[in-house]
Amino acid sequence: MSEIGMLRQLCGRLPLANPKEGTMPKVLRCADVVGSCDFVARGDSEQEILSQAAEHARSVHNMNDITPDVVEKVRAAIRDEAA
Ligand SMILES: [Zn+2]
Repeated sequence: MSEIGMLRQLCGRLPLANPKEGTMPKVLRCADVVGSCDFVARGDSEQEILSQAAEHARSVHNMNDITPDVVEKVRAAIRDEAA
């Protein structure tokens, strides 16, 4: 968690008007993947969101196998967080 704070400080010098991959907060709505779920994962990177989504899928949707297929669906559903 504190690593993220450090990253934010490092990235703080960069102008936010450049919504490039990696620095833009991202959001994943589980509903976009499974259809009906209120879970929303937020993070500064795709990796961060994927790990949250994997944990959520396991505990809530009983998906013990996160297949590459599922990962692709999740990645496709990740959006830039609207400010
Ligand atoms: Zn869900």
